[in-house]
Amino acid sequence: MHKIAVIGCGYVGLVTGTCLAELGNRVVCIENDSERLEVLRAGKVPFFEPGLAELLARNRERGRLRFAPSIAQGIGGSAIVFVAVGTPMLASGDADLGDVRAAALEIALALDSPKLVVNKSTVPVETGDLVAAIIREHKRGAHDVCVVSNPEFLREGSAIADFMQPDRIVIGVSDPQAEALMRELYAPLGAPIIATDVRTAEMIKYTANSFLATRVSFINEIAAICERVGADVRAVVTGAGSDRRIGTAFMNAGLGFGGSCFPKDVRALCRIAEANGLQTELLDAVLSVNAEQIRRTCERLREALDGTLKGRHIGVLGLAFKPQTDDVRESPALALARALLAEGATVAGHDPVALETAKRALGTRLRYVADEYDAAEGADAIVIATDWNEYKQLDFGIIRGRLRGDVVFDARNACDQREVEAHGLRYYGVGRAAPAAQSARHGDPSTSADRRS
Ligand code: NAD
Repeated sequence: MHKIAVIGCGYVGLVTGTCLAELGNRVVCIENDSERLEVLRAGKVPFFEPGLAELLARNRERGRLRFAPSIAQGIGGSAIVFVAVGTPMLASGDADLGDVRAAALEIALALDSPKLVVNKSTVPVETGDLVAAIIREHKRGAHDVCVVSNPEFLREGSAIADFMQPDRIVIGVSDPQAEALMRELYAPLGAPIIATDVRTAEMIKYTANSFLATRVSFINEIAAICERVGADVRAVVTGAGSDRRIGTAFMNAGLGFGGSCFPKDVRALCRIAEANGLQTELLDAVLSVNAEQIRRTCERLREALDGTLKGRHIGVLGLAFKPQTDDVRESPALALARALLAEGATVAGHDPVALETAKRALGTRLRYVADEYDAAEGADAIVIATDWNEYKQLDFGIIRGRLRGDVVFDARNACDQREVEAHGLRYYGVGRAAPAAQSARHGDPSTSADRRS
């Protein structure tokens, strides 16, 4: 049993703290946002993450998990302090280390015993040194502090399973005693441990996220070619990805990547390279291909709707950046909604769990609907922007009855094209040949223009 403090109760900190408590440790989760803390102390989870509320309740009941409002009131008696604060993107593209620096200073000022400070936030190379320097300069007493890097690879939506059954655990550490303690802490998970120096561990996290983002942009570029040459990107992925050297993960053509990690981490890596006198041609292209997905989707929608989005009404299904989360940070679905609004369309948006977070991000510019079929009401087109499972089973008979147009734009290749077309709707997927039936229907009297009128 270890006494642990976790600073920051976001997706990473709260999952880390709760899972470490589940492993039998005594954990204090520290959150300085008073609203969020109040929610946590009431036994609720301030965001959507499957299974987390139950795990949190169990560990609170067993007295292994509690919450504190500040580092000063939280880290006393802990041998291990995890830093899991946000590192959002600055306008420059650099990671904002403001919260990391502040946490380091607060740790230094509240130091009551020797501690292992474990950086779980995604931070640029050399941040471990920075945190160690801040603590060294400001610490109270002569307590030893060792700073290690332990980047987190969990995915929102499957965070608990990812934490409990990780592919690997990366520990950046130079001190053998600190390494032994980290190994002991994670031993119950039985996962492979990769121990490196701190800078290498920091670099591993950026490399992993940048590589996954690269795969997404790669397949989106392939998808654009598929559309032009009449190939089907899904079969292309199956065919190429069956090669064990390639695989099919992160090869879903669609609206592109988003969320609180990939966009900012790729940009931060570009900035790290730039600061070291290097150019990142590949990573720059990954970002521009990603931005292109929104532009291309608007262009294809415009074409489908007789050349303009102005005055069109579009139902957007899915607002979260991916399924199984209510996180809308850098969500491609919201980027699309913004682009449609900018072109003079009106938008109705639905999401199974992200309506509130989307409202906070977009305000009243969107009409939010609690029922997915209401998003189709009077719309010229619906767009599937996040591939929630429930959108894979939509009743297109109902959709057809509610739409005034006839366009289903499946920006995540989530639906069955034949099922959509069987209801007399025009189906647009990503990276797929325009259906033969579709062009035939352009001359049909029941085209979108007629049904819109
Ligand atoms: P988040 O923004 O959701 O949560 C951070 C929390 O820390 C906030 O609740 C904030 O109020 C709190 N906080 C900030 N300073 C504090 C302080 N001094 N004391 C107490 N609380 C404080 O962030 P997140 O999504 O959990 O990500 C945290 C870090 O982990 C980031 O660096 C991110 O890049 C990285 N990461 C995120 C994910 C993910 O899927 N979200 C996955 C892997 C890594």
